[in-house]
Amino acid sequence: MKLGVLALQGAFVEHINILKELDVEPVEIRRLSHFSDDLDGLIFPGGESTAISKLLNESGLLAPIKDAVLGGMPAFGTCAGMILLSGQVEGLGTGTIPVLDVLVRRNGYGRQLGSFSTVAHFEGVGDVPMVFIRAPYILEIHGSVEILTEIDGKIVAVRQNSILATAFHPELTENADIHKFFIEMIASQ
Ligand code: GLN
Repeated sequence: MKLGVLALQGAFVEHINILKELDVEPVEIRRLSHFSDDLDGLIFPGGESTAISKLLNESGLLAPIKDAVLGGMPAFGTCAGMILLSGQVEGLGTGTIPVLDVLVRRNGYGRQLGSFSTVAHFEGVGDVPMVFIRAPYILEIHGSVEILTEIDGKIVAVRQNSILATAFHPELTENADIHKFFIEMIASQ
């Protein structure tokens, strides 16, 4: 299996390292020439969603990636990556690659006190460590979106068909279970 990791900004190295551990071939996507339709899926890392969105535009990667993901390429977004994949972003309107039928709130835990780690239940996986850094959360889900984790009434992990999104950073923990979950999602399609 070959998974692309968007490597424009943010925490992409950690995703690449986890994929290597799981014997999945990571492909760093920095430029248009790095992206091709034959990838089995694409990871959108955390960072700053506005910066990643701007770099996607400037690099010319936005159009082909948007076409591929809206056309069914499996995708996994963490934190800023979740924001990029959301259909609606509170205060901003339509998301950059609007593939998930959700309304997301950026910096949902506040900007200053917004970083913490916890252990919580992830549907189909069990208890996993979760690191939140100025994280978003989901305010509304629609259509076929399934909630995978909810903490204190806030939705922080969802799946819709071949799209997975977490408000937290599973790549910043020692636990690779969420990446395994994504890989199994792709394999079982
Ligand atoms: N606060 C960032 C944003 O709105 C997301 C933070 C993160 O990815 N850790 O894009």
